[in-house]
Amino acid sequence: MYCPHCGQPVATDAADCQSCGERLPQLTRQSDVRREAIEIAQSEGKIAAIKFYRSETGCGLKEAKEQLESLLEEEGVELPSTGCLGMLLLAASLFTCGWLWA
Ligand SMILES: [Zn+2]
Repeated sequence: MYCPHCGQPVATDAADCQSCGERLPQLTRQSDVRREAIEIAQSEGKIAAIKFYRSETGCGLKEAKEQLESLLEEEGVELPSTGCLGMLLLAASLFTCGWLWA
């Protein structure tokens, strides 16, 4: 995230800005963002959660992805694997149908 006072990048969990020394806004808001990011990850997937996290914190894509992944790990969140497994199941069911109809 960025300091609202001087605009310098600051650590997400820092209480004060290292550049200007101003107090950074509420950790509560940050934990809201984290919680909401987790909810989005669970309902809409990781990409959507990363987008949300970026727009809320203003950090880069790589940083957002890393932070989100460590957050999900910390919280022990299991994401439904819609990716590879879903495609495999779809392919398998198509293949089965094709085979039955052949
Ligand atoms: Zn600052």
